Amino acid sequence: MPYVNAGKPKHKHTYGPVPSRRLGFSLGIDIVPHKICSFDCIYCQLGRTTGKTVARKDYTPVHEILDDVRLALQSKEQINYLTFAGSGEPTLHKSVGHLIAEAKKMTDIPVAVLTNGSMLIFPDVRNDLVNADVVIPTLCTTDQSIFERIHRPHACIEIEEVIRGYIEFRRIFKGRIWLEVMLMKDVNDKPEQIKELRTVIEKIAPDKIHLNTVVRPPSEEYAKPVDVEMLRRISEMLGEKAEVIADFSRQKTQPSQDEHAGSILSMIRRRPITINDLVSTLGLHENEIIKIIEHLIAQKEIAVSRHDGKDYYEVRRRSND
Ligand code: SF4
Repeated sequence: MPYVNAGKPKHKHTYGPVPSRRLGFSLGIDIVPHKICSFDCIYCQLGRTTGKTVARKDYTPVHEILDDVRLALQSKEQINYLTFAGSGEPTLHKSVGHLIAEAKKMTDIPVAVLTNGSMLIFPDVRNDLVNADVVIPTLCTTDQSIFERIHRPHACIEIEEVIRGYIEFRRIFKGRIWLEVMLMKDVNDKPEQIKELRTVIEKIAPDKIHLNTVVRPPSEEYAKPVDVEMLRRISEMLGEKAEVIADFSRQKTQPSQDEHAGSILSMIRRRPITINDLVSTLGLHENEIIKIIEHLIAQKEIAVSRHDGKDYYEVRRRSND
């Protein structure tokens, strides 16, 4: 039976299709809860990692995910890719290989996996992803100390091993690898760092290299974008497979996080409200709303109270002191 729960978004584990420069209309499939990840990247747009782990589990029931995918496919909206991504690192889901196989039984739409790549150090994870059509892993640096500074990884992950995992995955994977390089000002944008990166990327042999930078509010304010000119220079240094995919227009045309926070506050001022109310009214992804809510709580603007097993957000009553 489809997972439909009164008061909750109908598709709890899918979102979109959202327009994406690389994937056209992409149906997001969110298979781990917010925010289970093996990294805690300083540029993460989902806020800080609350469950840093390399433990693989069925974090979300497989049947719920597949029911949601089936429902979304019935919607007749244009979908160019089914994309495993979402609220954390999808390869931490123990059944990701099974989920890819089942999704491919339902449709001919190609499957993409957005991953931080760290779990490719494990042979079972590499095998799980072989049936995807496109895998988009991240590689920002070849240097362990910069790797730790950018990704704040789980203690058992070292960049040398991750690179070895990528090379091994390339050997067994017949689909396309689009390697994403996230560049940050004064962190990993120096010419000598890019030279090192190029040497390693040649060994990994991805089909494309996608250059990105921080265009959405990052987890840490000190994660700063490189400018478009610098991205173009780095693209030339990395050779013909490289292209800039950073969407600077998002910075200008999308409502800012402050504007979203303003809309959320004005709704909460009218009445106590749940996350799901905000999701259905504002049309934002649950993760984006959770991140703004956490910020408003930290700013002591709002408070949470529990009624009938649900969390309601309300304006914080201020004392007179
Ligand atoms: S950017 Fe991706 S890999 Fe990094 S912390 Fe966020 S969810 Fe995890």
